[in-house]
Amino acid sequence: MTSTATRTLSYEVFINEPAPQDGVLPNGEPKRFSPQASTLIYGREDAILTDPPLTTDQARVLGDWIASKDRNLTDIVVTHGHGDHWFAAGPLVERFGARVVASAGTIAQMHGNVATRPLLWDRIYTGIPPTPVTAVTAPDNRVTLEGHDLAIVEVGSTDSDDTTVLHVPDLDLVVAGDVIYTGVHLYLAQIAVNGGFGPWRQAIDTVESLRPRHIVAGHQDSRRDDDAVRTIAETREYLDDAEELLDTQHGAVDFFDAKIARYPDHLGRTILWIGANILYGAREHPDRDLREIIVSAWL
Ligand SMILES: [Zn+2]
Repeated sequence: MTSTATRTLSYEVFINEPAPQDGVLPNGEPKRFSPQASTLIYGREDAILTDPPLTTDQARVLGDWIASKDRNLTDIVVTHGHGDHWFAAGPLVERFGARVVASAGTIAQMHGNVATRPLLWDRIYTGIPPTPVTAVTAPDNRVTLEGHDLAIVEVGSTDSDDTTVLHVPDLDLVVAGDVIYTGVHLYLAQIAVNGGFGPWRQAIDTVESLRPRHIVAGHQDSRRDDDAVRTIAETREYLDDAEELLDTQHGAVDFFDAKIARYPDHLGRTILWIGANILYGAREHPDRDLREIIVSAWL
């Protein structure tokens, strides 16, 4: 848990317990999703939440934590369309009467993730609530919390298309969604979609240009701090390593093993394995439909 206060705004981070799933990794470990972070930014009376989790059970636990803060939840900001960052928004909207806000690009991606529920999400995870897309855009991608402006900044493609971060200038804070990770393996599948690492690196540059002191990584190890310089450097290094290992490792298992050797303490090995499968699957089967490769890597 992280907490930082200015005169009138504060923020705290809640790490959602990963939803259970079946199956094992090549090294015999049980599969497990990565921890995912929701951030509550609050003033004296009102609060804004980012990135609710995936399942009804997770929403109940997170909702109890929000209720304990005794603020009026006005908005839920979703940084990008992946289901693990918003599928459980519905129960929280009902419980707190909040509005869901995202960029137009993220809203389009949310619809795409709803379409993949029966093919993918519902085949892996139980207890995902109904997921109507109720998100609306905000004028100029800005939301207000007790007179403070918060900006939804579009950063392009990272581990999904049309990703954003939430910039809170009065806290020197960027809530980074999946643009920045700390202590958790990155989901690298999008590198196959984009044909390279360039877009993700550009997105990190955009985050850096906002000159934050604090960054909340959407997937993080709770034992790590939120130092912006360190988390940006770590994410760049992880991408550089991945690019190097893609050249030197001959298959998905080799890549998986090499990453674990370099990052023995990182969480989220299931996501590492899925990403490796997709990257090598796309390389080894260039004629196969990439969406099919992605779905079979997840299952
Ligand atoms: Zn994510």
